[in-house]
Amino acid sequence: MAKIADKYFISNPWKVIEQGFDPSYSRVSESIFALSNENLGVRGNFDEGGSIDSLRGAYVNGVYEVHKLSKSYRGIIDKTHFMIPAVDWLATDIVLDGEALNLGSVKFSDFSRELDMRLGTLTRSFVWHTASGKSLELTFIRFMDMTHNERAYQRIVLTPQNFSGALDSITLSLSFNMVHEGRNACFWDDTTSSAQGNSMTIVSRTKSSRKEVFAGAHIDAPIEFSAAQGEKTTTLYAKSIKLTQGESLTIDKKVAVVFDGSEGDALLNRGQKLLSSMQDVSFDFALETQKAYWERHWAVSDVLIETANAEDATSVADEQQGIRFCIFQMAQTYNGGSVHHNIGAKGLTGEAYNGHAFWDSEACCLPFYLFTNPDAAKSLLLFRYNTLPQALERAKMLDCEGACYPLATLNGDEACDLWQHASIQLQPSTAVAYGIWHYEKVTRDDDFLWLYGAEILAQIARFLISRVGKSPLTGKYGYYGVMGPDEFHMMVNNNAYTNYMGKRSLEYAAMVAKRMEDASPDLYLKLMQKISLTKDEISHWEYVAENMAMPMTDEGLIEQFDGYFDFPYLDINSIPIDEFPLYGHWSYDRLYRTSLIKQPDVLMFLYLYNSSFSENIKRINYDYYEPRTIHESSLSPAVHSILAAELGKMDEATKFFGFVTRLDLDNYNRNTREGLHTTSIAMAWINIIYGFAGLRSDDDVLHLAPRLPPRWNTLTFSLVWMGRNIKIKIGASETVFSLLQGEPMDMLVYGKKVTLSADNLVIDR
Ligand code: BGC
Repeated sequence: MAKIADKYFISNPWKVIEQGFDPSYSRVSESIFALSNENLGVRGNFDEGGSIDSLRGAYVNGVYEVHKLSKSYRGIIDKTHFMIPAVDWLATDIVLDGEALNLGSVKFSDFSRELDMRLGTLTRSFVWHTASGKSLELTFIRFMDMTHNERAYQRIVLTPQNFSGALDSITLSLSFNMVHEGRNACFWDDTTSSAQGNSMTIVSRTKSSRKEVFAGAHIDAPIEFSAAQGEKTTTLYAKSIKLTQGESLTIDKKVAVVFDGSEGDALLNRGQKLLSSMQDVSFDFALETQKAYWERHWAVSDVLIETANAEDATSVADEQQGIRFCIFQMAQTYNGGSVHHNIGAKGLTGEAYNGHAFWDSEACCLPFYLFTNPDAAKSLLLFRYNTLPQALERAKMLDCEGACYPLATLNGDEACDLWQHASIQLQPSTAVAYGIWHYEKVTRDDDFLWLYGAEILAQIARFLISRVGKSPLTGKYGYYGVMGPDEFHMMVNNNAYTNYMGKRSLEYAAMVAKRMEDASPDLYLKLMQKISLTKDEISHWEYVAENMAMPMTDEGLIEQFDGYFDFPYLDINSIPIDEFPLYGHWSYDRLYRTSLIKQPDVLMFLYLYNSSFSENIKRINYDYYEPRTIHESSLSPAVHSILAAELGKMDEATKFFGFVTRLDLDNYNRNTREGLHTTSIAMAWINIIYGFAGLRSDDDVLHLAPRLPPRWNTLTFSLVWMGRNIKIKIGASETVFSLLQGEPMDMLVYGKKVTLSADNLVIDR
């Protein structure tokens, strides 16, 4: 289906620029200009608020509220949780000549906003023209500290253009009055706050989940502040501030937000200590440190796309900006700083999806980290280890054994109240097993396996065994009453994706247990005792895996589930354009009546375990399922693009790739205002690296088979692979591999074994 770009932001290789201000686009800009450092996230809201349409959001990772649901059937959750806005640390009020700054009502000119992806800063400037005839230039700069993720900074610069005189007042606050828009409520209790000199602090607690958060700020400015306490707010304000024409007054607000599980005095002490340690750190010093962080980050993760054709220059420049925006967002959203955080489908950029993480984390996001920041990949998997107890509980609720990972979660508990997803989609659990398998392939980190991976795998295997059924007709095993990744068909039997992923998870769990017995006998015995695992049980995993049903025609066409071939065919092109997205326009049950597929299902496992399938199987299945797939999930087109590129269908590969890097920058789905599509942003990186560089990482050696879209001249990027750092520059006729660090290695390029050592390796197309 054709998607149309909203061209609003200015293209630039390292920046996203908004020149002039369109109030009707305000929420989209707020999402695009969201900043985060994995721990704290803030939308690109105006510091001073005002009457402009806005979703005000400042989030603290892991801060959520719980909501009781009415008790229903067993296995259906009776409480859920959702991310809430926490402390508004940017709140600012400025009054000049009795006029309060509010871009919804005052006169202003020269508005620009700029996200700098090499600094991680958001800068906004404009000139305010008061009714009394004064022109005051204002610049607001903010950044989230990437090296100390409990810190954030705000700078306000005031420069009178045509007057010298007094600014009535400036008020800087920390406020827990933030309202969750979707639920129209503030979830914060009364606060304790204080302010003195240039510092203020405030502590509050969520109403039901009892999460306690400290916020403090220290102001650096050549003016005197007074203190005031309001409802759930602490404030420092200054009145009658002398301004001189042409001279800038700079006010820096250095903010500390602490949410570390401590409470009461312990939390207050930690917060105050952190705040006082920031007193001597200047905004400029913190920014220099931030710059160095991003330099290091871009050195390993940048993707450079170039063209030599003048007619392609604009679209390639857009793609360049787009992919850098995606990489920037991935690093902001998650960088491994905590093993208690995961990646929300919208990151920390909005309320949609409730801040929940899905199977997307392992299936879509993990590869970016595996190849640019393996420590972060490990932390992401450790989240699943830390939430194993909840997964064990969840399996019990479903009358199963072992560990069933949640469909949607912030804290490890199942939070999805749609039972047809939460109870019958097994892909979160198989994705965790896949993630561990993939992590091991790329890192060979056996210690991780013995200490954590083996236990998770064993519990997932138990779940899969307790959930599997055996057909009395064929004697084969399979999953009954499930829903695969394609959410347009539910309660199906022998969903090929679920069966195949189940089979591979069981095989891998058994393989790891056996390998562990030799490689780490002590830990093996400990694990066997801890979870009462027996060798017979492990053998049974292998037996079930071997006998898993995988219905396939003689030609190699895999049936998505029992009876799928019998579903009425609906030509996607016959659906009127104004009926998209179907979720918004069709009755919910109508989605289930045809062979239309929401997102890749068979093609998904052909992509995930790519090297296990012949080209012929991929071709037959791609040709069959592609015309039936509607791509109603933003995760979907990249998978089709990757397979199309592999099959030499470069036009299709390029078409599906068309909007992937700019899904949010160009608001293709018209819902960027709700927040960024963070996990589909990860698919943009995958699309380029797996699709056009032809990387395959599911074999024991690295495979590459570069094939660039015709409009690209070169594609350059780096990969981390088993302790090595490799730079790859792909051109139209050759690829140059450089080993920047590490031991020589073998790999397969276009299927041929080559050795990469200290000298550059040049492979012709
Ligand atoms: C997709 C799921 C995905 C979720 C979060 C849904 O629309 O169907 O596969 O996990 O979005 O991204």
